[in-house]
Amino acid sequence: MTKELTIKALVLREIPMGESDKLITVLAKDMGKLLISCKGVRNIKSHRLSSTQLFCYDEFTLTEKDEKYYLKEAALIENFYSIREDIEKLALAQYVLQVTEEVSIEGEYDNSVLSLVLNTLYMISSSNKGLKHIKACFELRIASILGFMPDLSECSVCARKTPPPFFLDIEGGNIICKDCMSEISDFDAWKYADLSAALFLAVRYVISAPPKRVFSFNLGSDEDVKFFDLCERYLLTHLEKDTFDTLKFYRSLGL
Ligand SMILES: [Zn+2]
Repeated sequence: MTKELTIKALVLREIPMGESDKLITVLAKDMGKLLISCKGVRNIKSHRLSSTQLFCYDEFTLTEKDEKYYLKEAALIENFYSIREDIEKLALAQYVLQVTEEVSIEGEYDNSVLSLVLNTLYMISSSNKGLKHIKACFELRIASILGFMPDLSECSVCARKTPPPFFLDIEGGNIICKDCMSEISDFDAWKYADLSAALFLAVRYVISAPPKRVFSFNLGSDEDVKFFDLCERYLLTHLEKDTFDTLKFYRSLGL
């Protein structure tokens, strides 16, 4: 039995198949990750060629048969075109898509992931915020959406709630006050991040800001570097990854 459906979805990955076909992985609103077979779209005459490329957000009309999806029509909503005009933007955007694909599970969905990724691509393509800042906010926010939101309410050892300085226990996803930290015997600097008052506020902001405001803050330049490091370590630790191919490439650009 064949049925037709219309979805809004972002192209995360494309794999050429045969002469003129391709298989795309998309993240769809209200459906999550899907694979779609696209017949004839690599034919230069196909009007669906440009709307089935990486970074395109489209309204797709699909046919479904035996739980497999086939492209019928694609109407482009946004293609974040300027990402393709700058190698640094392209490298970061590819990392964002790879992380998104990695954390998305077929059959499950959370529209806040899609919304964050679209906002992140929008920021990369058109904002004057630094790319490192955008990257860090994306990493911390997606970790939070995935269930790893750090608990900043009190010291996880003595329950002290007084303001910073605290240390962020990256793996534990909570904070430890300076006094309790001094009693930890197996101190491993990789596992903790020193949270100054400014960093504490930045972390709290990114995990709790309304979706469209996640990127809208500034840190001092000294704190910036610590924030970038902390966010990357936080995400990789919780995804149990050493790195991603796209992250290696982004780093190879010397950023
Ligand atoms: Zn304490």
